[in-house]
Amino acid sequence: MLTKSEPDEIQDFLTDASYLKGGFASSVVFPETADDVAGILAGATRDLTPVTVSGAGTGTVAGRVPFGGLVLATDKLNRIKRITVDEAGGRGVAEAGVVLRDFQQAVDTKGLLYPPDPTERGCFLGGNVATNASGARTFKYGATRNYVERLRIALPAGEVIDLRRGELCAGADGRIAIPLSGGMTIKAQLPSYQMPKVRKNASGYFVAAGMDLIDLFIGSEGTLGVVVEAEVRLLPKPEGLLSGVVFFDSEEKLLGFVGEARRRSLANRVRSPTVREGNAGRLDARALEYFDSESLGFLRQKYDSVPDNAVGAIFFEQETTAATEDLLMNEWMSLLDAHNALGDQSWFATNEPDQLKLREFRHALPVLMNEWFAKHNQRKVSTDMSVPDEAFAGMLRFYQESLRGGNLRYTIFGHIGDNHVHVNILPRNDDEAAKAWEIYRTFIRRAVDVGGTISAEHGIGKLKREYLRELYGEEHLKEMAALKRAFDPAGILGRGNMFSSDLL
Ligand SMILES: Cc1cc2nc3c(=O)[nH]c(=O)nc-3n(C[C@H](O)[C@H](O)[C@H](O)COP(=O)(O)OP(=O)(O)OC[C@H]3O[C@@H](n4cnc5c(N)ncnc54)[C@H](O)[C@@H]3O)c2cc1C
Repeated sequence: MLTKSEPDEIQDFLTDASYLKGGFASSVVFPETADDVAGILAGATRDLTPVTVSGAGTGTVAGRVPFGGLVLATDKLNRIKRITVDEAGGRGVAEAGVVLRDFQQAVDTKGLLYPPDPTERGCFLGGNVATNASGARTFKYGATRNYVERLRIALPAGEVIDLRRGELCAGADGRIAIPLSGGMTIKAQLPSYQMPKVRKNASGYFVAAGMDLIDLFIGSEGTLGVVVEAEVRLLPKPEGLLSGVVFFDSEEKLLGFVGEARRRSLANRVRSPTVREGNAGRLDARALEYFDSESLGFLRQKYDSVPDNAVGAIFFEQETTAATEDLLMNEWMSLLDAHNALGDQSWFATNEPDQLKLREFRHALPVLMNEWFAKHNQRKVSTDMSVPDEAFAGMLRFYQESLRGGNLRYTIFGHIGDNHVHVNILPRNDDEAAKAWEIYRTFIRRAVDVGGTISAEHGIGKLKREYLRELYGEEHLKEMAALKRAFDPAGILGRGNMFSSDLL
């Protein structure tokens, strides 16, 4: 098994897209099988060596940044084992280190769709499971959790388990029991907190009465076990896709448009949940993504065709068939007219090359943001909260009122369909950074006060631990730590992720 320990060989594994500095490790090991992973973990438990699991390192909260011990890199667990087609769509089985983009392409060639689509597709499938990743299409399809049917997981003491959805559930009292191959059983108690009632959540362990135990590992950020392999549910690939970037000259008009597109999409979906989208011929956005005026200002650096009078834009996607494409195009056009969008200056795409260009436009913004932070040598000040439906309009106003008219540069963009926009504050120096973090804290408080979550998709990692305390409180963090201890008595795995090691 490959092991690297020279500083220049391992430095890429000591950070991630959070750009957190100061990570260190003695070596990086590259297991190639589940048994390799189990062997590394058993040895580390015996020697009390911390182990940090590494995916592709696209995480933004320093979850894979090690502070001592070994890095267990999943890069060589990179086989797509099979993709099968069935009546409902299909199944895919792949190892943790498969790059999401490669998996999606392989699935696509079979006429299938794997819906989870974090904007950054260079991430690994195992990283996606560990963070319950989601993306623009989550508005229609939900997060990674909805597609995971089976996980092969290596536990810290060196056991390998296969958990298939539907086979093992928690009791109504929150007790769980996971039998191991040697006749032992892991017994534990789920934390007693209620998760926020939001459309997306990546804050802390997933808990629910009688829950499927596979869900405990999804989103557990490398703290309970190492995901070695996943079997996921696939859907039939939609026949066609209509997408657009539509511009508005007033925010009121834009929000009116989003409100109606969202309401009609959700209503149509509930009315015909079994009808394959597109065939129904009804308006049903699979993505509704927001760009505020500041975001457009940034994007104009790269795209001079963004209209000068636009103060906001929405990226949308709608699945179609040959039979419904025209009808749906008309539906969207009428909706745009009704809300006075800048229709003539907006962009639409019905073929893959053009759609790719619109996706690139969507993707360019987080990339431009990251470049900004790197250029100004500042840490990312970026929110990831989502809130319940009834709280979203007030939350957006709160963000805007806190930032408009001040000296700080910022952008607000993202998954408006899921009440989940990212506010990026862009400090140019340390004073501005201090101010930005102060404002960030007020956003966290407001999100918690209105029943929202502090992280909807990026997770807690090492950077958002104190906010998780704000969300759930110290007692619940202790319950999370007790749950972790049941799986990882020596506390070796994913140290410092979600809660600080002293709670262990
Ligand atoms: C420009 C940009 C845009 C992004 N957009 C989105 C978005 O739209 N939606 C979204 O959800 N995220 C987004 N992200 C965040 C990131 O892509 C996701 O969190 C992704 O799922 C991380 O996968 P990774 O393989 O890079 O994991 P890493 O960053 O390597 O690790 C993330 C965490 O998972 C753990 N982990 C990794 N692999 C395993 C494993 N096999 N078993 C157990 N634990 C493991 C690590 O220890 C760490 O705690 C974005 C990031 C960037 C840079």
